[in-house]
Amino acid sequence: MLFELKSVFLADGESSEIRYELDITDIDIDGIFPFTSPVSVTATAVNRASLVTLTLDCEYGFCRPCDRCGAELSGTEHKRFEHRLVQTLVDETNDDYIETPDFTLELDEVVISDIILHYPQKFLCSEDCKGLCPVCGKNRNEGDCGCEKQTVDPRLEILKQLMKE
Ligand SMILES: [Zn+2]
Ligand SMILES: [Zn+2]
Repeated sequence: MLFELKSVFLADGESSEIRYELDITDIDIDGIFPFTSPVSVTATAVNRASLVTLTLDCEYGFCRPCDRCGAELSGTEHKRFEHRLVQTLVDETNDDYIETPDFTLELDEVVISDIILHYPQKFLCSEDCKGLCPVCGKNRNEGDCGCEKQTVDPRLEILKQLMKE
């Protein structure tokens, strides 16, 4: 979606808004498709004292397995991203600034990169997820499986192996 920003850039106090849907359900992250619905994007550009700020309100459905127990969690994510729009970039390394030399901005790329960059590396169903039992594979959040709790010191295991040889 192309965002026309000329009127915003040229007048202090001016603003413009676009609402649209962007399909991201085919984005594959580490073998899963975590986005279950298109993103509802509300993009707002505001000129305040000749500084143009872009705000992206993004809402989308997600479904992702817990990294520890594998239980799938789904819900709706609402994220807000902000960028400063400038005619010419002074600092190329700052992602907060986006160059819009011809007063237009392709929103899709910005929305997708913001969502991917803020996609959490680690994802747990809860902070104290107990994970799966290493012996029987039962989800330990659902109750104790009765397996003997093994506390194997990896250093002792290595020693044992060495002794055998
Ligand atoms: Zn979990
Ligand atoms: Zn078990």
